[in-house]
Amino acid sequence: MSHFQILRDVFGYEQFRGPQQAIVEHVVAGGDALVLMPTGGGKSLCYQIPAIARQQAGHGITIVVSPLIALMHDQVGALHEAGVSAAFLNSTLSSDEAYQVEQRLLRGEITLLYAAPERITTPRFLAQLDSLFERGQISLFAIDEAHCVSQWGHDFRPEYRALTVLHERFPGVPRMALTATADDLTREDILERLQLQDARAFVSSFDRPNIRYTIVEKRDSTLQLLRFIEREHEGEAGIVYCQSRRKVEDMAQTLVDAGIKAMPYHAGLDQKVRQTNQDRFLREEGMVMVATIAFGMGIDKPDVRFVAHLDMPKNIEGYYQETGRAGRDGLAADAWMAYGLQDVVNQRRMIDESPAGEDFKQVMRGKLDALLGLAEATDCRRMRLLGYFGEKSEPCGNCDNCLNPPAVWDGTDAARKLLSTIYRIQQMSGVSFGAGHLMDIVRGKPTEKVTQYGHETLSTFGIGSNFTELQLRGVLRQLIAMGALAVQGGEFSTLQLTAESRGVLKGEVAVRLRESVSAPAERKSKRSTRLGAMVKAPIALDSDALMRYSALKAWRAEVAKEHNLPAYVIFHDATLAAIAQKAPQSMDDLQGISGMGTKKLEAYAHEVLRVVGQA
Ligand code: ADP
Ligand code: ZN
Repeated sequence: MSHFQILRDVFGYEQFRGPQQAIVEHVVAGGDALVLMPTGGGKSLCYQIPAIARQQAGHGITIVVSPLIALMHDQVGALHEAGVSAAFLNSTLSSDEAYQVEQRLLRGEITLLYAAPERITTPRFLAQLDSLFERGQISLFAIDEAHCVSQWGHDFRPEYRALTVLHERFPGVPRMALTATADDLTREDILERLQLQDARAFVSSFDRPNIRYTIVEKRDSTLQLLRFIEREHEGEAGIVYCQSRRKVEDMAQTLVDAGIKAMPYHAGLDQKVRQTNQDRFLREEGMVMVATIAFGMGIDKPDVRFVAHLDMPKNIEGYYQETGRAGRDGLAADAWMAYGLQDVVNQRRMIDESPAGEDFKQVMRGKLDALLGLAEATDCRRMRLLGYFGEKSEPCGNCDNCLNPPAVWDGTDAARKLLSTIYRIQQMSGVSFGAGHLMDIVRGKPTEKVTQYGHETLSTFGIGSNFTELQLRGVLRQLIAMGALAVQGGEFSTLQLTAESRGVLKGEVAVRLRESVSAPAERKSKRSTRLGAMVKAPIALDSDALMRYSALKAWRAEVAKEHNLPAYVIFHDATLAAIAQKAPQSMDDLQGISGMGTKKLEAYAHEVLRVVGQA
């Protein structure tokens, strides 16, 4: 079959996306490739189609290296649904099951085999590969999540280093490395570690146009989150990231108390609990996962409608990875973050107090600054994000700043008052203080602590009484983001002047800030909420179609349960919505609906027509 036929017949898609076609052609022809594509860009097809095509041409099996053991079952299940012979080998299989897979492997009955790197590099498995190799039956090595080979990536796995054995032991077998991690350092490292210097690199745009970026100022973040979910994403699946395990547990409980289906996930939970929660998140509809960043790698659930950050990540790479888990199906999704002064202080302190060397800390500080710049930005967030990854773009029209351009005020005067107060305190008391105390002095509040230190006698006491605390907090955040203030760790974090403070103090550097808004701007949900909040379709449907859609969803849930697979593996929401809209009467009507491959048509057309007919 040609590549197009495979795309259409097996996967049910009409067109390749972005660089998929070029990649597929290159790899089918036996070339090595490095594929950099954002999450949701469609990396899987880039090796799945070559795997099918090359096996049909007699080249044998494709080995997919993946660190994501917990997800292999579903990935293989999705291929089975599409009629592709696939299997996985990992520690979740009994030795008997593993033996069965190995036998099928050696008999050449498998098109794609998923395996963890530590499994692949065992002597036993390598010996099996030897025997396939001698018969010319290893078609391709696809190394997924390839950034794991690099210590500069966010998820270094030493086992990946051992993968150099692949090209040494099996010369001439095409290899491809795939990742969604873009930065140059990681990319260079992948090429070198995996000896892929001669591979052709395919770099996609990292833009995710369907994701709307919003960063709000943290007030009562719990309340802000509840409002955000209730207004925009009632009954929809999402991920809420928090920094600490404790906060994860508390927040999950808070959401449950508010009537939202939610579960916690963090590395401190029992392995079994984690697995159960992850399975439920993948399999049940409208589940919210409250998690530390331990959760999410490789989660390919396509209908995650929002990713919320209640604490600021460490850097833009992390933010982009995590937010990238929203909207993989290409439908509208939100990346929402609440951020405040405390986040800035915490992140600075974590770097300062880490045992790493000064050089490393300097790199981390630079990365944090870039994220602070994004959070404080008053212009297009997407332009900044893409700019960080070296891509030029225009204002996007789909971020908070584009949609509601923030009013900007000149905070230079407030900044100078704050900085000169810090200077005077330092001179008078010889020590530095935290943000709260500083703001009390500037606003002229004679608190116990203020009088204890005699700070009400400072000439700057009360010179900023016209500013609200909220405004001053904003100014402090901006000053830290600019590097004009340093956060010093210790039991309490304190603020200190830096070399950059001078320019601001002397009035040479302006400080411009977004106007604080008293409440998050109202936004009307565009999605249909007829039939209550129960059914939200990804496209506009009339009420009859909506009935069909909800009947199809109920049917899909049954099938998914029977097959022990997540619902989206059977059909995506978008496919069900397209069916509901078309109201098909016959097999012919079903043909050509995106996501309806030949195997699925055979397996499900009859049932789908019945469900549509009865709805
Ligand atoms: P990645 O691994 O790059 O994050 P996936 O391979 O999981 O992304 O693909 C993301 C989603 O896009 C999947 O649901 C997949 O079915 C869908 N997809 C991929 N390629 C196409 C295409 N050419 N046409 C339509 N949908 C596609
Ligand atoms: Zn924008």
